[in-house]
Amino acid sequence: MEPFKLIRVQDNQAAIHAAGVTRTKFIAGGTNMLDLMKLNIETPKQVIDINKLGLNKIEELKSGNILIGALVKNSDLAYHPTIIKNFPVLSEALLSGASPQLRNMASVGGNLMQRTRCPYFYNTDFACNKRVPGSGCAAIDGYNRNNAILGTSDKCIATHPSDMCVAMAALGAIIHVQGIKGVRTIPFTDFHLLPGQTPHIEHTLKQDELITHVEIPALPSGSKSHYLKVRDRASYEFALTSAAVVLNIQNGRIKNARLALGGVGTKPWRALLAEKVLIGAIANEQNYRTAAAAALSQAKGHKDNTFKIELAKRTLVRALITTGGMS
Ligand SMILES: Cc1cc2nc3c(=O)[nH]c(=O)nc-3n(C[C@H](O)[C@H](O)[C@H](O)COP(=O)(O)OP(=O)(O)OC[C@H]3O[C@@H](n4cnc5c(N)ncnc54)[C@H](O)[C@@H]3O)c2cc1C
Ligand code: SF4
Repeated sequence: MEPFKLIRVQDNQAAIHAAGVTRTKFIAGGTNMLDLMKLNIETPKQVIDINKLGLNKIEELKSGNILIGALVKNSDLAYHPTIIKNFPVLSEALLSGASPQLRNMASVGGNLMQRTRCPYFYNTDFACNKRVPGSGCAAIDGYNRNNAILGTSDKCIATHPSDMCVAMAALGAIIHVQGIKGVRTIPFTDFHLLPGQTPHIEHTLKQDELITHVEIPALPSGSKSHYLKVRDRASYEFALTSAAVVLNIQNGRIKNARLALGGVGTKPWRALLAEKVLIGAIANEQNYRTAAAAALSQAKGHKDNTFKIELAKRTLVRALITTGGMS
């Protein structure tokens, strides 16, 4: 690990001003950041400890929306009674991630900003456009079983690793950020970027900007939601495929559907084509299968991960059946 200066800040303004300098990074739970620093993948000159900023509250707004502080721990969010009752998809996604110890440290802001688990990204002996722009991509012709099948480019096929983000994509979350120029909000699906020709640019956050909150809009009454994760072992493992499903069904017909996929996309993958199929349709297995086919219609497999196309379809159908049942 390279030497760095640690700055402890007490308020947002101090954090933002300290962050405006290049090669400066925030640290929250440290569960991703410290690994990256130990491996010399992140080499900040300054690290800003934001743990004293007080962004650790979960507020229920009058509108029914939930405002979650960026420093709320993954465990605290997962076990919050309102999240369990009204947004089970988010609680289930969080509890499917990592291990209890990690979830006790990991923050909401850090989870949003965590970096890919592509093995070549973590191994500095290999070419990786995300780590060293222009160096090549060892995964495209290498071992790519865990890599992405949606949103890939000829420069990078890395999967976005988060479970929480998949649920937030389906829930239409809104990210609140604060920078030197003031505050702004970013719709969840606009926050993470596709790799395109610049896979090292992963999100729309500016150097001086701090994530302060994530807002979850209230769901229409009667909505049901669920997160299903498929992985190589039952815990402490990233998703091969996952599906976040939010459905509102009335008299057997789907009034609204919000779907997202994990383990398959280069960013948390909102399945808009599948939503189009389902909205207005009868809640039955045939329609769920048609929706899953639409969701994966643009998927592109690589040598070791083509199986994910069928697995993702089945994951989505199973999650839809569990959430919506069948008329
Ligand atoms: C062994 C292991 C297994 C895991 N398994 C899973 C899994 O199955 N599913 C899953 O989803 N995740 C998994 N994770 C990842 C884990 O969820 C993340 O490491 C964690 O959420 C990161 O949160 P943190 O607070 O520790 O972030 P940190 O490590 O402190 O920071 C991560 C990044 O976020 C930035 N950051 C943090 N807070 C803010 C903020 N408020 N504003 C702007 N930038 C910010 C930091 O600068 C840094 O770039 C696993 C991690 C490990 C180590
Ligand atoms: S897939 Fe992306 S992260 Fe993995 S080696 Fe290629 S460029 Fe790097």
